[in-house]
This record gives sequence, C-alpha cells and structure tokens, in this order.
Amino acid sequence: MRIVHATGELFPYIKTGGLADVVGAVTNALAGYGHEVAAFLPGYRPVLEHPELAGAEKVFSFGVDMGSDFLKGEIRSVKLSKNLTVYLVCRDEYFDRRYPYGPPDRDYEDNAERFIFFSKAVVEVLVRTGFKPDIVHCHDWQTALIPLMLRIEERRRAVAIAGKTVFTIHNLAFQGIYPHKVFELTNLPVELLNIDGLEFYGQVNLLKGGILFSDQLTTVSPTYAREILTPEFGCGLEGLLSMRSDELVSVLNGIDQDVWDPQTDSHLPANYSNSDLKGKETCRRALLRECGFDERFTGPVFAMICRFTEQKGMGVLLEAGDFFAGGESLLILLGSGQEYYERKFTEFATRNSKSVYLGLKHDEGMSHLIEAGSDFFLMPSIFEPCGLNQMYSQRYGTVPVVSRVGGLADTVIDIDESPGKGTGIHFSPGDSGELRKAMKRATALFADKKRLGGIRQRGMKTDFGWKTAARAYESLYREII
Ligand code: ADP
Repeated sequence: MRIVHATGELFPYIKTGGLADVVGAVTNALAGYGHEVAAFLPGYRPVLEHPELAGAEKVFSFGVDMGSDFLKGEIRSVKLSKNLTVYLVCRDEYFDRRYPYGPPDRDYEDNAERFIFFSKAVVEVLVRTGFKPDIVHCHDWQTALIPLMLRIEERRRAVAIAGKTVFTIHNLAFQGIYPHKVFELTNLPVELLNIDGLEFYGQVNLLKGGILFSDQLTTVSPTYAREILTPEFGCGLEGLLSMRSDELVSVLNGIDQDVWDPQTDSHLPANYSNSDLKGKETCRRALLRECGFDERFTGPVFAMICRFTEQKGMGVLLEAGDFFAGGESLLILLGSGQEYYERKFTEFATRNSKSVYLGLKHDEGMSHLIEAGSDFFLMPSIFEPCGLNQMYSQRYGTVPVVSRVGGLADTVIDIDESPGKGTGIHFSPGDSGELRKAMKRATALFADKKRLGGIRQRGMKTDFGWKTAARAYESLYREII
C-alpha cells in the first residue's frame, strides 16, 4: 500500500506528547512491512536542525490561497529508509520557531493559520507529485481538515488524489476551536460553515472536519473509544461521534520497548531484568540520593511524571497530599505545566520537604531513573486517552496506581479484582478519598514482598510493543481500501 501520515509532531524530531511516539513508531513499522510511506510534518526549527533531517532537499516551491492572500512555501524531503520519506512543509513565518504549538504557558496566536497552511500544503504535494496514496492518515486537530480538503480538491479538479482517509483522535480535549473569521482562511465552500459542518457554537472547530469527513475514525484505546461517546468525556462532540460510531475503532498505543528496557537502559546506574531485580534496588538508592532523601529509607516510594494539568489529576493529588505528611511514604514528582499547579506543588513540596521531591523541569534521563527507582507510579488522571507511563512503569517493575479511565483501564489489571492476573491498582477518577485508599492498598502491598514480587513479574513480562498497533493499523487500512 501507499500510505501518507500527516502530523503536527513526529518522534524523534519533535515531540510534545504521545502523538509523536505513535506516528514515529507506526510509520517506521509500516515501512518495514514493505509499504511505501510518506510522513508530512511542518519544518519547525528543531526539525530542520535535527541531524537526520538536516540533509532534507528542496522538492519544489508552492503557493496556496489563504483567504484572499496567496502564500508561498517550500517542500523539502528526506528519505529515511527504503520505504519511508519525510516531507517537510516549510515557511519561516509559520514554522521557524522553537515549539510546535507554542511555549509551555501559551499557544501561538496564529496556530489556526499555521495548520490550515500546513494542511493545504499536504494536499498540494499529493496533487503535484501524483503519489495517489491508498490511505491518508491524519492525526488530531492540526491535520483534521485534510480529508475534507482532499475531497473538495478532487471535485474541483475532477481527478482522484487519494484513496481512503483515516483520522485518529489522540486527545479530544484539543479541538482547534477558533473565531468565525478563521473559516475564510480555509477557502472551503461557505455552506460548510454551519452546524453540520465546521461550525461549533458560533466558532470554527477544526477537529469536526476530521470527525465528519474522514472515511474511518480511530482513537487510542478501547475504553476511550467508548468514553468519548458520553457527555462526561465527549467534550461537546459526543453527539457527532455517536453518529459516526460505526466508523470509530480503537487501536491501543504501544511503547518503544528498545528505549524503555531496564536491561539495557543507559540512563540507569544498574540494569536489571525480571529474573534478577537487584539492579532495581541500586536504581532506587540512586533516585533517593538524587532527590535529596536518605537512601536507606525503607518505606514505599511513589512517583509521578506528567504535564501539570487538570487532566492529569493534579488537583486530586493535591487534595490527597496529606497522605505524605507523616513521612512513611515518599513522593517524587517530575513535570511542568499550568502556572497554578506549579505554584501549588511548590508550596506543597516546601511544606513536606522531608517526604516530597518536586522537579519542575523536563528531564528525559531522570524520567527513566524514576521509572526504575520508584515502587509505585501514580496516574490519577481525570481522563486519559491512552497514557504511556503506566506501561513504562510495568516494564520497570514499578506498580502503577491509576484511575480507572481510558487507556489506563485497558493496560492495568487491578490486583484485587483479578488476583491471578493483576498488574496494578485501580481507583475511581476525580476522587481524592479513592486515591488515598488506593495508596493505602499500595502501602499494604509493599509490606507483602512475596505478593509484590509476583505482581512486578507479571508487569515486566507484559508485551506493550508497537508491533500489535502497527499490524492493527495495517489490517484496518486493508479492510477499508
Ligand atoms: P500526554 O501525551 O497526555 O502528555 P502521555 O503519557 O501519553 O501523556 O505522554 C507523555 C510523555 O512525556 C511520557 O512519556 C512522559 O513520561 C513524558 N514526560 C512528561 N513530562 C515529562 C518531564 N517533565 N520529563 C520527562 N518526561 C516527561
């Protein structure tokens, strides 16, 4: 098959979250299976500077209508492997910036413009190269207009540009909602600006384009696929999604089991495997030292690594924070995000400095040491499309304590509900009392070393690799073309 992926981020060149990992892993795997794959990405500054992409060559200059303006850009490409080409959409005014969507505390003001331009450029390349992909797979709001723009362009030119379109929702909370006037930049027929098109409560909702006009919809875990059909998780689009539920399937994300492997991880002071966990003890001592705690501490160590946002349950954790006041358990927090939570957690960590460590930074190396050196990994998310850390932690013999939502419900099995199969602890989302109870269960488990050992073993042996997801996308493509 000839397959196109269009994305706002791609690992290892630019990443803000799980989306980059998914597209990076899946495009590589599909190319490895012999498909001809083209991945489209904006030519952001760090992308153009990345050693693997620095040799990207100009394919052509192009121009597209943006409202009443005609804006120019350049397409560069680099062949990464026999079957995988990356196309970079370049226009300095839009993409010569350090961040894909904006610095940590805000979005760029012209994001709508930037990604409408990007979407038009993808269509333009498909027209000009005559690549005729069997599948065009788009991701999240940034590329959600492509399926629609493709069909409009086909009608206008009376030619076939592409086969089927697939649209994946990685996080429904981000919809690309902009003022009415943004619609003009799309140059789409004005009849599309109504409730059955892109309009959303008097504004323009780019994600609606992907949901309404792609041939196939997917999301990243089975539970999230059900949840987004309900008012609680549907972010106002549950009605629309329910209308298209026959075309909505889930493909569970995976993790890179080469990068996240305690047997070979170069970020760790000692490596280990499920047959010998001695190295995990060394990692725990190193982690405690690194965080300024006494390495001889014998109680349980809880950890969390995430964006500091409401979604990740930071509010719930704050409410349950007194759990750590006595010093019987330690809490290690790594992340950054909303200014409110950064301030609240700074106060909390200062009040509980003997038992709480706070690292307000992005630190890849430390995130590996935390996965290895802690005993329990906390994920009190209010919603979680898939989540990655609960899978990393199981691979590192660290027991996840998670709210029962989205991908967390699908990848962690509760140890009391399924004693022979359990890999972690579940609790009800958004409830600090439940989180406290869950942490108490974890503490009891920590005291029962034999049971803890069995649960660790099961987690470490679970296969969360990408192969399953890549093969699932491949079969889905075959089914629909
Ligand atoms: P989301 O995409 O919603 O942010 P995911 O769990 O799907 O959440 O992916 C986030 C990834 O970013 C995880 O691999 C997580 O460990 C990593 N991460 C988040 N914050 C930090 C940080 N401060 N330092 C290192 N890695 C981080």
